[in-house]
Amino acid sequence: MPKTSYTGRHRPASKPSRGRQFVVPVALLGTTVAGGFVVRDAGASELSPEAAAMKNVSNSVAGLGLTADPDALAAATANRAGARSSRDMARDAKNLIVDATASASGAAAQAQAAADQATAAQAAATKAKAAAAAKAKRDAAERALAAAHRWVAPVSGYTLTSGFGFRWGKMHPAQDLACAVGTPVHALSSGTVIFAGWSNEGYGNFVKIRYWDGTVSWMAHNSRLLVAVGDEVAPGQQVAYSGSTGNSTGPHVHLEIHPGDGAAVAPRTWLASHGINL
Ligand SMILES: [Zn+2]
Repeated sequence: MPKTSYTGRHRPASKPSRGRQFVVPVALLGTTVAGGFVVRDAGASELSPEAAAMKNVSNSVAGLGLTADPDALAAATANRAGARSSRDMARDAKNLIVDATASASGAAAQAQAAADQATAAQAAATKAKAAAAAKAKRDAAERALAAAHRWVAPVSGYTLTSGFGFRWGKMHPAQDLACAVGTPVHALSSGTVIFAGWSNEGYGNFVKIRYWDGTVSWMAHNSRLLVAVGDEVAPGQQVAYSGSTGNSTGPHVHLEIHPGDGAAVAPRTWLASHGINL
């Protein structure tokens, strides 16, 4: 605080000089100015210090574009109120932003969840489709295998004559099926032809087939063969026409069954166990 501070009315008037500075009490400035002003004396030499101070303040305030106008005070107050409102608005806006951010985060999370769900559903659908395709493939393979492994009768329209057993003191290891010459003779199941040709042992035109389970069938006395060694045959595929070639007393198919290409067994019994009843 400079020595030139003026705080009372009893100080004798001194001769102010240009450039002196005064600190003006707040009370002198009324309600317009909310603090002390340090003002520069401007031509107040003939005035009392009080008057000079007031004049300086007025000049300075005027020079600063300030007035003691109540309207200005109201405006300033309104501005402060406005400033408060602005702060409130800023706070509200911040809250809105926070809320909006939270909402956006929530929406994003929901969208992500929906996307995840859609992806999972798509994956499940793809998996189900693949599983269905695999099952269809398995089913088709099973059907194909079942079809390939089915057993069928060698001829149709036959009469059972000599069966498996002793005939005239001699073993007959076959089942004879009497039928007209030229009756189609079929493979019993899927297999490979292991002999097809003339037999020097009395079987005439003779065909042997080894099936998928290892069983071998013999079919003899045919009039004509339709397959050759090595041919792959399917169940029911025609392999010959029946006849009476070789050591035969009449048109018929001489059928032998050799499980595992071993000893012959009773054809009717074996076929019955494979669903074929002669
Ligand atoms: Zn026979």
